[in-house]
Amino acid sequence: MAFWAFAGWNSGKQRSDADARLQGRLQTAVADYAHILGNAEQRGRRLASSPRVQQALARRERRRLAHLGGRDVSFALGRSVGSAAPEAVTRTVEVVAHGRTLGWVIVKVPFDERLLARLERASDLPDGGALGFARGDALTIGGGGAQMQARVPLGRVIELTSGGERYRALAALLGAGPHARKLVVLAPAAGIAANANAERWRVAVVGFGVLVAVLLVGYALAPAIARNRLSSQQRAQAARVLSHVGDGVFLIDSEGVIRLWNTAAEAITGLAAGDVCGRSTELALSGWRNVAPLVPVATRPGDQAEISRAETVPLDIEGRELWLSIAGVAFTDGTVYAFRDVTNEHRLEAMRTEFVATVSHELRTPLASMHGAAMTLRHRHERLDADTQEELLDMIAEQSKRLAELVEEILLTGQLDAGSLSIASEPFDPEQLVRTAVEEARHRISDGTTLEISAATLLPYVVGDGVRALQVLSNLIDNAMKYSPGGGRIDLGVAQEGESIRFSVRDEGLGIPTGEQERIFDKFYRLDPDNRRGVGGSGLGLYICRELVHSMDGRVWVESEPGLGATFIFELPIATPLLAAT
Ligand code: ADP
Repeated sequence: MAFWAFAGWNSGKQRSDADARLQGRLQTAVADYAHILGNAEQRGRRLASSPRVQQALARRERRRLAHLGGRDVSFALGRSVGSAAPEAVTRTVEVVAHGRTLGWVIVKVPFDERLLARLERASDLPDGGALGFARGDALTIGGGGAQMQARVPLGRVIELTSGGERYRALAALLGAGPHARKLVVLAPAAGIAANANAERWRVAVVGFGVLVAVLLVGYALAPAIARNRLSSQQRAQAARVLSHVGDGVFLIDSEGVIRLWNTAAEAITGLAAGDVCGRSTELALSGWRNVAPLVPVATRPGDQAEISRAETVPLDIEGRELWLSIAGVAFTDGTVYAFRDVTNEHRLEAMRTEFVATVSHELRTPLASMHGAAMTLRHRHERLDADTQEELLDMIAEQSKRLAELVEEILLTGQLDAGSLSIASEPFDPEQLVRTAVEEARHRISDGTTLEISAATLLPYVVGDGVRALQVLSNLIDNAMKYSPGGGRIDLGVAQEGESIRFSVRDEGLGIPTGEQERIFDKFYRLDPDNRRGVGGSGLGLYICRELVHSMDGRVWVESEPGLGATFIFELPIATPLLAAT
């Protein structure tokens, strides 16, 4: 449609271009006509100034004048010129000699075939084109002198028929006055129309060809375009899927540069994709170098034949140890790794292993002692004196108590973990708590150890569970005794510290390295897990202390210089003023 409309517009343009050319030719012919008139004028002047012409005029020698004038030139003798012939335009020049008019030179430019032929030559008419002179309704066309009746208006192209031929015609006025003629230029209408039509068809055909070509190209490219659109949709979908995958996914290219880092990878590691992508693995993941050799890499995803089972490896990321279950698949773009965070599972597993090791170790020693003592009593009791028998029975009692305590600790830990332990919240006297704890501890104290209390008087009551607070304090005192193998002084302090009462147990024992002071409160954590110092323990005591203090809205910590002893401190909140001891 568009091409056809364009073709229509184009053929119209062709026609108006042809008309414009017609106009141009007419102007050229008119200009040439003016030039011819100018020549006629000059010729007249030349003759008028010629002495021979003047002499002939003066002598009225008509024959000689005819000879001197030549074609289209006539002479008038005397003063008057006479009227001009209507079939020609004339240029008349007065012949004056010695102040006297001798006559006139009249140069004629006739509207005849010759003039038309000359003007046609000048105006470079197209094939079949012609010029003509019009006067009134009479039109005389050059190149054969066809006469016809036609009124051609000025300045407007019309169509007219002559000799069965259609023309486009345009007229211009030559001269002025009632007898002035029009110069008419004619161009065959068929040629212009044919040209316009041919142009119209050419444009239409070209347009159609372009259309067909576009359709063909479109048809040929359609699958590729569709594939491209599909694959870009698929890519976008894959990126969306990747960002919603729970597993961390990253791609390391063959140069060792990280090219992809999905949302889960960001969440697990805390490293933003922007900080990681485009950087070398060595720089972005410092711990990767040690871990990479341990990570299984398959050549096809899900390949059972290959070792594609994920491996659990530790990865150090900015000082944080993460345990990742990770596996990779290599392909042309590099290796894509998928991982999941198993740090908690790993911790749990480590704890379980530790628990089994610690508990079995802790059980074995007292059980072995009890078993030995029981067997001795059973088989040799007649031969044993009373003191030895007493000693063995004491040992059984002590070891079974230790076992019971161990079991108690394990149970309590379970309750604390499950949140099922009920903790009272009532006011009690902190100083009384310290005194009770010390009194009880005196029964367990070994030689060379002293227990001192420094307590501020008139302390406000604290709020919490008195029994559990006593358990915490006793545990700290026991640890102070346990980890002061050479004995020494143990100081118990109780004082107000802001809105809290601060309890402290200071010993002169082994102390705790700075880096371990947080971790000793972790479950099963022991500085000397293999009991190389001969001091046994489950590693649960401080964990229980911390959990109990936290459940009473207090806090607990240790201050220590290794070798110079340790001070364990815990604080419990002061009861409301109404309940305070004051
Ligand atoms: P354990 O049953 O091993 O005593 P705890 O949880 O009570 O378990 O203590 C954890 C670890 O903290 C101990 O194994 C010990 O290494 C260290 N520890 C606890 N109290 C002291 C202390 N007063 N002085 C030095 N080390 C201590």
